[in-house]
Amino acid sequence: MAWDFSTEPEFQEQLDWVADFCRNEVEPLDLVFPGAAYSRSPKAKALADPLKQQVKDRGLWALFLGPDLGGPGFGQLKLALLNEILGRYRSAPVVFGTAAPDTGNMEMLAAYGTAEQKEKWLYPLMNQEIFSAYSMTEPQGGSDPNLFKTSAVRDGDSWVITGEKWFTSAGARADIIFVMCTNGMFVVPRETPGVEIMGYPPLHNHIRYNEVRVPLGNLLGPEDGAKVLAQRRLGGGRIHHAMRTVAQVKLAFDMMCERALSRESHGKVIAEHQMVAEAIADSYAEINMLRLLVLWTAWTIDNSSTQAARTQIAACKYTMAKVLREVSYRALHIMGSLGTTNLTPLQAMWASAPTMAIADGVDEVHKVTVARNVLKGYEPHPGLWPTEYIPAKRDEARKKYASLIESDPDLAAWADAAVRATARG
Ligand SMILES: Cc1cc2nc3c(=O)[nH]c(=O)nc-3n(C[C@H](O)[C@H](O)[C@H](O)COP(=O)(O)OP(=O)(O)OC[C@H]3O[C@@H](n4cnc5c(N)ncnc54)[C@H](O)[C@@H]3O)c2cc1C
Repeated sequence: MAWDFSTEPEFQEQLDWVADFCRNEVEPLDLVFPGAAYSRSPKAKALADPLKQQVKDRGLWALFLGPDLGGPGFGQLKLALLNEILGRYRSAPVVFGTAAPDTGNMEMLAAYGTAEQKEKWLYPLMNQEIFSAYSMTEPQGGSDPNLFKTSAVRDGDSWVITGEKWFTSAGARADIIFVMCTNGMFVVPRETPGVEIMGYPPLHNHIRYNEVRVPLGNLLGPEDGAKVLAQRRLGGGRIHHAMRTVAQVKLAFDMMCERALSRESHGKVIAEHQMVAEAIADSYAEINMLRLLVLWTAWTIDNSSTQAARTQIAACKYTMAKVLREVSYRALHIMGSLGTTNLTPLQAMWASAPTMAIADGVDEVHKVTVARNVLKGYEPHPGLWPTEYIPAKRDEARKKYASLIESDPDLAAWADAAVRATARG
């Protein structure tokens, strides 16, 4: 019976170590030196690098990559359990070598890169010697890749890229940018002449590619293969976001429960007021529904492929945004005035819910994907009535008993009466 919700004791030991390490090392670093884990300043690196080394020594670096590429090759299910811890702490993904957008870009390189491309970009990215960004969305429309215009033209031994991208996260500080063109995915060093970073938005950059010339070897994967590479990248990215969202909503839930037991109003602790109890009960159920959906999806990926799990991944994507929105709002509300400030993580968590419903594809598109794929398993009913129309099904079932009913009038009368009784009910 291989239907088991338990965690192997050896892996649970790893999870316990990660939880302790994050609480005792990563969180204090985040609180006192925010951003140190990402910084290139030698002083910040001197603080963060020893923590990264501890993770490496423990065999937990670059968790999402297989052993052939220097990761532990845990697979998605174990990664999900680890991300349920890492997602609580802002810097934990980078301290564990699993931070977006680098992870998705590394996945593309691992899957489609030549030996030379891996040498040049994958291993330096894994070691955080360089950082990357991903340029796909364009100002005129992000949800429909058919609207994208950025393209590359081959000219001698170069590709020349022209176009405009929008919301390239961390583009301004990336060493290399993965640029999705209509005719392929290209790796563009940020300092290449013609890469123009606009002044705003500050974190998710608007970038113009003005006849940017890169060598032929900067085409990643096949020519015209950009959509396939993008699916590969985004599929993995979405499920990793969902794993970390489980961590966030669990944090909100912990805060909600602690507060519910800590405050009094109208003669009793607020946990005893029924509407607060309802918020806790609904959140408990929603978090566990999300968590099981995410774990089941991760398990499916491990046992088939990201492509085979597309419908589940899409369902995780909009479900996580919804559960994050609902649970963080309830937790914030139960925290009262304090919840509306930035003195707890709740306000930022709630404000991130709309982002979750947009980044990596808007909810509507994922819902349409789920409905379309699910409907492939169905057909219209053949006649006038739905398959489950009871009178028609009963007529069909009576054929099975036809000889019995014809030979026994008492039984036939009993059956007719019983059916009339159920119809009245
Ligand atoms: C925090 C953050 C980080 C991001 N990072 C990156 C990044 O690193 N690289 C990158 O390339 N992009 C990035 N993006 C961009 C993101 O991928 C796009 O915002 C997203 O694909 C939606 O595109 P859009 O913003 O142009 O919205 P639009 O496509 O204009 O959609 C706007 C709204 O229109 C409606 N809509 C659109 N299409 C449909 C449809 N088919 N059916 C029903 N309704 C629809 C929805 O209500 C949707 O919310 C990031 C976005 C955010 C918020």
